Amino acid sequence: MVRLTVDLGALAHNFRQLRQWCGPQVKIMAVIKADAYGHGLLPAARTLAAAGADYFGVATLSEGLELRRVGLTTPTVLMLGLLPAEAATAVAADLEPVVYLPEQVQALAAAAQAQGKTAKAHLKVDTGMGRLGLMPADLDQFLDLLVGQSHLELAGISSHFAVADWADRAHTLEQLAIFQALRRRVRDRGFSAAASHIANSAAIMYTREAHLDLVRAGIMLYGSPPSLELPSPVPLRPVMSYQTLVAQLKNLPAGMGISYGRTHITRKPTLVAVLPVGYSNGYSRLLSNRGQVLIRGRRAPIRGRVCMNLTVVEVSDIRGVNVGDRVTLLGRDGDDCITADELAAWANTISYEVYCLLGNSNLRHYVEMDHHETER
Ligand SMILES: *Cc1c(COP(=O)(O)O)cnc(C)c1O
Repeated sequence: MVRLTVDLGALAHNFRQLRQWCGPQVKIMAVIKADAYGHGLLPAARTLAAAGADYFGVATLSEGLELRRVGLTTPTVLMLGLLPAEAATAVAADLEPVVYLPEQVQALAAAAQAQGKTAKAHLKVDTGMGRLGLMPADLDQFLDLLVGQSHLELAGISSHFAVADWADRAHTLEQLAIFQALRRRVRDRGFSAAASHIANSAAIMYTREAHLDLVRAGIMLYGSPPSLELPSPVPLRPVMSYQTLVAQLKNLPAGMGISYGRTHITRKPTLVAVLPVGYSNGYSRLLSNRGQVLIRGRRAPIRGRVCMNLTVVEVSDIRGVNVGDRVTLLGRDGDDCITADELAAWANTISYEVYCLLGNSNLRHYVEMDHHETER
């Protein structure tokens, strides 16, 4: 009754556009944490590896192990770091954690020595995000510890931007300047091979001087612009779409309350369509009385509360609606399109969360639209 579609052709297209935008000198880390933002870890990883991703970025050890289990050997960064107890498993699987704690360095070095390997790690510094990472004041002491590790290679130095999606770039450029100074200090201590990476999708688009050696692209790969203030200079195609169908069609008299809480009362006789989708499918209850869907290429507003498995929309103004008609909750129908940003605005969130909620709450169907289009 609901259908979530992931267009892997669009994902590959977005990667190619990204490659073109960055040029051949810059390496690309495809960020596929959180089940590839709800698009499915392995299908996304296989598509992006085939498209030429130089690195993968995942959050956790288990995500990295999943990639290795299916034979994907692309260098993979664990962007949350790891617990010391996870070090041996990470080293055995050639996963490259970020590090920001002395305990992580010691555990990785010990595991690498025990396995007769050289482990790779990426130093994570906090240049103004105020989240994960080593504070600049603690850098020298941390480098002292790293210098002595013959079984640990510093493969990268990384940081993360807080507001790279803003039109006002002052804070982003400040973070970049701090990062450049830190990289010099790291290089001066002999870690010349460490790749510098700080750019997320927004910085990839709007702060090209932040590309450095390697960029970390997430949301743009999935087809959403990273900024609400600035247009995307890279042509992107949405990857995820979500559909259902009309389960029931009925005329309600004037004065009738719709759904729990009777938060919408009809003012006149009203034609409504009942849809078999709700918040258990990741279709947020915050869309109640705010969201819209597409039926026959036209917008139908949600009336009343979104329930666990049901939602009611008004179709009084749309001609010829039938039971079983396709309803588009995310994506294109005819000339109109509901974007993840639009859904996000109605539900007081961001496209990232829309993708995670829908993608991780529904069975995903994979297609390659581009492929079929180009075949014809
Ligand atoms: C999620 C994440 C990214 C990707 O960000 P987008 O805005 O989706 O491009 C990059 N770096 C880190 C550390 C992240 O956690």
